[in-house]
Amino acid sequence: MIILKTARELSMMRDAGRIAQRALLLAGKAVEPGVSTAELDTIVRKYIEKQGAKPSFLGYGGFPASACISVNNVVIHGIPSRKQILKQGDIVSIDVGAFFEGYHGDNAWTFACGDISDEAKALLEATKESLFLGIKAAKEGNRLGDIGSAVQEYVEARSYSVVRDFVGHGVGAKLHEEPSVPNFGTPGRGQRLMKGMTIAIEPMVNMGTHRVKVLDDDWTTVTVDGKLSAHFEHTIAITSDGPVILTSAE
Ligand code: MG
Repeated sequence: MIILKTARELSMMRDAGRIAQRALLLAGKAVEPGVSTAELDTIVRKYIEKQGAKPSFLGYGGFPASACISVNNVVIHGIPSRKQILKQGDIVSIDVGAFFEGYHGDNAWTFACGDISDEAKALLEATKESLFLGIKAAKEGNRLGDIGSAVQEYVEARSYSVVRDFVGHGVGAKLHEEPSVPNFGTPGRGQRLMKGMTIAIEPMVNMGTHRVKVLDDDWTTVTVDGKLSAHFEHTIAITSDGPVILTSAE
Protein backbone atom coordinates (compact mmCIF):
# COMPACT_ATOMS: atom_id res chain seq x y z
CA MET A 1 0.00 0.00 0.00
CA ILE A 2 1.27 3.45 -0.90
CA ILE A 3 0.95 5.89 1.99
CA LEU A 4 0.14 9.42 0.82
CA LYS A 5 1.27 12.25 3.10
CA THR A 6 -0.56 15.39 4.11
CA ALA A 7 1.02 18.84 3.86
CA ARG A 8 1.75 18.67 7.59
CA GLU A 9 3.49 15.32 7.19
CA LEU A 10 5.50 16.67 4.28
CA SER A 11 6.73 19.50 6.43
CA MET A 12 7.81 16.98 9.09
CA MET A 13 9.56 14.94 6.44
CA ARG A 14 11.35 18.07 5.32
CA ASP A 15 12.72 18.42 8.88
CA ALA A 16 14.03 14.84 8.81
CA GLY A 17 15.36 15.37 5.29
CA ARG A 18 17.20 18.55 6.28
CA ILE A 19 19.03 16.69 9.05
CA ALA A 20 19.92 13.84 6.69
CA GLN A 21 21.22 16.26 4.04
CA ARG A 22 23.28 18.35 6.47
CA ALA A 23 24.83 15.19 7.96
CA LEU A 24 25.68 13.99 4.46
CA LEU A 25 27.28 17.31 3.48
CA LEU A 26 29.33 17.42 6.70
CA ALA A 27 30.68 13.94 6.05
CA GLY A 28 31.35 14.84 2.42
CA LYS A 29 33.46 17.85 3.50
CA ALA A 30 35.60 15.52 5.60
CA VAL A 31 36.42 13.22 2.67
CA GLU A 32 40.18 13.45 2.07
CA PRO A 33 43.18 11.17 1.80
CA GLY A 34 44.12 9.64 5.17
CA VAL A 35 40.63 9.74 6.69
CA SER A 36 39.00 6.43 7.63
CA THR A 37 35.45 5.58 6.64
CA ALA A 38 34.72 5.02 10.35
CA GLU A 39 35.59 8.69 11.00
CA LEU A 40 33.04 9.75 8.38
CA ASP A 41 30.46 7.52 10.03
CA THR A 42 31.14 9.16 13.40
CA ILE A 43 30.60 12.62 11.89
CA VAL A 44 27.23 11.48 10.54
CA ARG A 45 26.10 9.87 13.79
CA LYS A 46 27.18 12.77 16.01
CA TYR A 47 25.49 15.39 13.85
CA ILE A 48 22.22 13.45 13.63
CA GLU A 49 22.12 12.72 17.36
CA LYS A 50 22.89 16.36 18.18
CA GLN A 51 19.70 17.34 16.33
CA GLY A 52 17.67 14.98 18.53
CA ALA A 53 17.26 12.58 15.60
CA LYS A 54 18.34 8.99 15.05
CA PRO A 55 20.45 7.55 12.24
CA SER A 56 17.94 5.52 10.21
CA PHE A 57 20.44 2.86 9.20
CA LEU A 58 21.98 2.09 12.61
CA GLY A 59 20.69 -1.38 13.49
CA TYR A 60 18.40 -1.50 10.44
CA GLY A 61 18.33 -5.18 9.48
CA GLY A 62 21.37 -5.45 11.74
CA PHE A 63 23.45 -2.82 9.87
CA PRO A 64 26.28 -1.94 12.28
CA ALA A 65 26.81 1.77 11.46
CA SER A 66 25.03 5.08 10.87
CA ALA A 67 26.06 5.60 7.26
CA CYS A 68 26.74 3.26 4.36
CA ILE A 69 30.12 4.20 2.92
CA SER A 70 30.95 2.61 -0.39
CA VAL A 71 34.34 3.24 -1.99
CA ASN A 72 35.20 2.80 -5.71
CA ASN A 73 33.84 -0.58 -6.91
CA VAL A 74 31.55 -0.88 -3.89
CA VAL A 75 28.09 0.06 -5.13
CA ILE A 76 26.13 0.39 -1.87
CA HIS A 77 25.97 -0.83 1.74
CA GLY A 78 29.69 -0.51 2.46
CA ILE A 79 30.34 -0.90 6.19
CA PRO A 80 32.48 1.91 7.66
CA SER A 81 35.76 0.70 9.15
CA ARG A 82 38.71 2.17 11.02
CA LYS A 83 40.90 0.03 8.78
CA GLN A 84 39.61 1.55 5.55
CA ILE A 85 41.70 4.65 4.92
CA LEU A 86 40.74 6.83 1.97
CA LYS A 87 43.32 7.46 -0.73
CA GLN A 88 43.77 10.19 -3.30
CA GLY A 89 41.65 9.32 -6.34
CA ASP A 90 38.99 7.31 -4.51
CA ILE A 91 35.31 7.94 -5.10
CA VAL A 92 33.32 7.70 -1.89
CA SER A 93 29.56 7.13 -1.81
CA ILE A 94 27.96 8.12 1.47
CA ASP A 95 24.35 7.14 2.15
CA VAL A 96 22.67 8.74 5.16
CA GLY A 97 19.20 8.45 6.65
CA ALA A 98 17.81 10.42 9.59
CA PHE A 99 14.69 9.61 11.63
CA PHE A 100 13.14 12.65 13.27
CA GLU A 101 9.75 12.99 14.98
CA GLY A 102 8.34 9.95 13.27
CA TYR A 103 9.69 10.33 9.73
CA HIS A 104 12.75 9.40 7.72
CA GLY A 105 14.83 11.33 5.24
CA ASP A 106 17.19 9.32 3.02
CA ASN A 107 19.93 10.65 0.75
CA ALA A 108 23.28 9.78 -0.78
CA TRP A 109 26.07 11.44 -2.70
CA THR A 110 29.36 10.30 -4.21
CA PHE A 111 32.31 12.49 -3.27
CA ALA A 112 35.78 12.75 -4.82
CA CYS A 113 38.74 12.10 -2.54
CA GLY A 114 41.33 14.64 -3.65
CA ASP A 115 42.02 14.60 -7.38
CA ILE A 116 40.18 11.88 -9.22
CA SER A 117 40.56 10.64 -12.79
CA ASP A 118 38.63 12.29 -15.61
CA GLU A 119 36.68 9.08 -16.16
CA ALA A 120 35.66 8.97 -12.50
CA LYS A 121 34.62 12.64 -12.67
CA ALA A 122 32.48 11.93 -15.72
CA LEU A 123 30.80 9.00 -13.95
CA LEU A 124 29.96 11.18 -10.94
CA GLU A 125 28.60 13.98 -13.13
CA ALA A 126 26.46 11.60 -15.17
CA THR A 127 25.02 9.84 -12.12
CA LYS A 128 24.17 13.15 -10.44
CA GLU A 129 22.55 14.43 -13.63
CA SER A 130 20.53 11.21 -13.98
CA LEU A 131 19.18 11.73 -10.44
CA PHE A 132 17.97 15.22 -11.31
CA LEU A 133 16.43 13.99 -14.56
CA GLY A 134 14.60 11.32 -12.56
CA ILE A 135 13.38 13.95 -10.10
CA LYS A 136 12.19 16.17 -12.98
CA ALA A 137 10.08 13.27 -14.28
CA ALA A 138 8.47 12.76 -10.86
CA LYS A 139 5.34 14.77 -11.66
CA GLU A 140 1.81 14.13 -10.53
CA GLY A 141 0.11 12.08 -13.25
CA ASN A 142 3.36 10.64 -14.64
CA ARG A 143 4.23 7.02 -13.89
CA LEU A 144 7.13 5.25 -12.21
CA GLY A 145 8.38 4.17 -15.63
CA ASP A 146 8.84 7.83 -16.56
CA ILE A 147 11.30 8.25 -13.69
CA GLY A 148 13.16 5.01 -14.42
CA SER A 149 13.42 5.60 -18.14
CA ALA A 150 14.66 9.19 -17.65
CA VAL A 151 17.51 7.84 -15.53
CA GLN A 152 18.24 4.83 -17.70
CA GLU A 153 18.24 6.61 -21.06
CA TYR A 154 20.65 9.29 -19.90
CA VAL A 155 23.00 6.79 -18.26
CA GLU A 156 23.04 4.24 -21.07
CA ALA A 157 23.57 6.96 -23.72
CA ARG A 158 26.93 7.48 -21.97
CA SER A 159 27.72 3.75 -22.09
CA TYR A 160 27.33 3.31 -18.34
CA SER A 161 24.87 0.86 -16.83
CA VAL A 162 22.15 1.10 -14.23
CA VAL A 163 22.06 -1.38 -11.34
CA ARG A 164 18.99 -3.63 -11.53
CA ASP A 165 19.20 -5.59 -8.26
CA PHE A 166 18.70 -2.54 -6.03
CA VAL A 167 16.18 0.25 -6.54
CA GLY A 168 14.72 3.34 -4.91
CA HIS A 169 11.68 3.17 -2.64
CA GLY A 170 8.87 4.96 -0.87
CA VAL A 171 9.95 6.74 2.35
CA GLY A 172 7.92 7.94 5.31
CA ALA A 173 7.31 6.67 8.82
CA LYS A 174 9.20 3.64 7.57
CA LEU A 175 12.56 3.86 5.84
CA HIS A 176 11.35 1.57 3.07
CA GLU A 177 7.75 1.90 1.96
CA GLU A 178 5.98 1.03 -1.24
CA PRO A 179 6.46 1.49 -4.10
CA SER A 180 9.81 0.29 -5.42
CA VAL A 181 11.34 2.96 -7.64
CA PRO A 182 13.54 1.34 -10.31
CA ASN A 183 16.18 3.36 -12.13
CA PHE A 184 15.10 1.71 -15.36
CA GLY A 185 11.78 1.27 -17.10
CA THR A 186 9.43 2.17 -19.90
CA PRO A 187 7.85 5.63 -20.24
CA GLY A 188 4.14 5.64 -19.40
CA ARG A 189 4.30 2.32 -17.53
CA GLY A 190 3.97 1.41 -13.87
CA GLN A 191 2.34 2.99 -10.86
CA ARG A 192 0.84 6.44 -11.43
CA LEU A 193 2.48 9.19 -9.36
CA MET A 194 0.04 10.84 -6.99
CA LYS A 195 0.17 14.00 -4.94
CA GLY A 196 1.45 13.18 -1.44
CA MET A 197 3.71 10.30 -2.50
CA THR A 198 7.19 10.48 -0.96
CA ILE A 199 9.91 8.47 -2.65
CA ALA A 200 13.67 8.08 -2.65
CA ILE A 201 15.09 8.20 -6.17
CA GLU A 202 18.58 6.75 -6.08
CA PRO A 203 20.41 5.85 -9.28
CA MET A 204 23.36 3.47 -8.81
CA VAL A 205 25.43 3.74 -11.96
CA ASN A 206 28.27 1.42 -12.96
CA MET A 207 31.12 2.15 -15.32
CA GLY A 208 30.93 -1.41 -16.67
CA THR A 209 28.35 -4.15 -16.31
CA HIS A 210 25.17 -3.56 -14.30
CA ARG A 211 25.78 -6.84 -12.48
CA VAL A 212 26.59 -6.70 -8.78
CA LYS A 213 27.22 -9.18 -6.00
CA VAL A 214 26.91 -9.11 -2.22
CA LEU A 215 30.03 -10.11 -0.27
CA ASP A 216 30.19 -12.60 2.61
CA ASP A 217 29.43 -9.90 5.20
CA ASP A 218 25.90 -9.89 3.67
CA TRP A 219 26.05 -6.11 3.12
CA THR A 220 28.91 -4.90 0.94
CA THR A 221 27.63 -4.85 -2.63
CA VAL A 222 30.28 -4.64 -5.36
CA THR A 223 30.39 -4.55 -9.15
CA VAL A 224 31.15 -8.03 -10.47
CA ASP A 225 33.74 -6.61 -12.90
CA GLY A 226 35.50 -4.52 -10.23
CA LYS A 227 34.82 -1.26 -12.08
CA LEU A 228 33.70 1.98 -10.42
CA SER A 229 30.15 2.71 -9.30
CA ALA A 230 28.46 5.95 -8.19
CA HIS A 231 25.28 6.61 -6.20
CA PHE A 232 23.20 9.77 -5.77
CA GLU A 233 19.90 9.93 -3.91
CA HIS A 234 17.27 12.39 -2.75
CA THR A 235 13.97 11.90 -0.95
CA ILE A 236 11.30 13.84 -2.82
CA ALA A 237 7.58 14.55 -2.59
CA ILE A 238 5.13 14.54 -5.49
CA THR A 239 3.07 17.74 -5.19
CA SER A 240 0.68 19.65 -7.41
CA ASP A 241 3.49 22.19 -7.84
CA GLY A 242 5.87 19.50 -9.10
CA PRO A 243 8.55 17.44 -7.35
CA VAL A 244 9.92 18.88 -4.10
CA ILE A 245 13.26 17.72 -2.69
CA LEU A 246 12.76 16.91 1.02
CA THR A 247 16.44 16.16 1.67
CA SER A 248 17.42 19.78 1.23
CA ALA A 249 19.88 21.63 3.52
CA GLU A 250 17.69 24.77 3.54
MG1 MG B 1 17.39 4.75 -0.06
